[in-house]
Amino acid sequence: MKIIDGKNISNLIKEEIKVEVDQIISNGERPPHLAAVLVGEDGASLTYVASKVRSCQQVGFNSTLVKLPVDILEKELLKKIQELNNDDNIDGFIVQLPLPDHIDEEKILLAINPNKDVDGFHPTNFGKMALNMKTFIPATPFGIMELLKRYDIETKGKYTVVIGRSHIVGRPISILMNSKGNPGDSTVTVVHSRTKNIENYTKNADIIISALGIPGFVKNEMVKDGVVVIDVGITRVKDSNHPKGYVIRGDVDFDSVKQKASYITPVPGGVGPMTIAMLLKNTLLSRSLLKNY
Ligand code: NAP
Repeated sequence: MKIIDGKNISNLIKEEIKVEVDQIISNGERPPHLAAVLVGEDGASLTYVASKVRSCQQVGFNSTLVKLPVDILEKELLKKIQELNNDDNIDGFIVQLPLPDHIDEEKILLAINPNKDVDGFHPTNFGKMALNMKTFIPATPFGIMELLKRYDIETKGKYTVVIGRSHIVGRPISILMNSKGNPGDSTVTVVHSRTKNIENYTKNADIIISALGIPGFVKNEMVKDGVVVIDVGITRVKDSNHPKGYVIRGDVDFDSVKQKASYITPVPGGVGPMTIAMLLKNTLLSRSLLKNY
């Protein structure tokens, strides 16, 4: 059994990005610039955005954090998005989700210029991805593909079961794994909360990608020998013994499933760190696309 070390791979990717940024700067050009819009003071969102800004600094990107009050009007937020769309000094930006209830997330998403949509959530980019065209791939599925590639894990002709069908993980990773390419060329089943007897699918899977958010959901008896397991789940579970008052748990019962797995991602330290690295990669791509217009 091999542990897929997402922390290590994400650091390698950041180093590669830094080399490209140094080259851009030595050519006398400005470095890539990522902006993040944060509405309100949600604790988890603050943590995510802070670590995105920190990672920008690590690779030499410019970064801007746009902090807006929780009661901002939808039309004010839309105005801010237009400003970012029109700002030639910004290559890409993200709007940290979730947004407060009074704001229509879909409206905000549609207002983002697809050429700056480094999260890859805009329907134009999602459609391009589904058609196998060059575009921004949502960072978490992009990170999973990169892990499979760097560990040289065979996906062609394999049977992949994806647990979860969200727009940001389950749906896009199922499309990517099923698309022509390497990684890809896999036969994919997507299961969800309405699927009966999920173990009937997972027991036959060569690769399981779990993105549902229930700690320890995937158990030893649900998988076959030699399975590759990618655990996307990140759930905070209360733990009074821990200084933070909680621990992070994945969807997979790691200790039992690892006994059968050929490859497995840990939580934390698996898919999680890859997400930010791939967001940076998308920003670098955006920088070169926008420059060539
Ligand atoms: P989500 O939008 O809540 O979607 C969860 C999916 O799981 C849904 O499709 C749901 O089915 C399915 N599901 C729920 N209960 C189920 C059950 N008992 N059996 C089978 N399927 C079930 O979640 P998400 O945004 O995709 O995130 C999933 C997990 O990944 C969360 O723990 C999240 O924190 C984590 N995550 C991690 C990263 C990272 O960087 N590593 C990034 C994003 C998300 P229905 O469609 O039928 O409701």
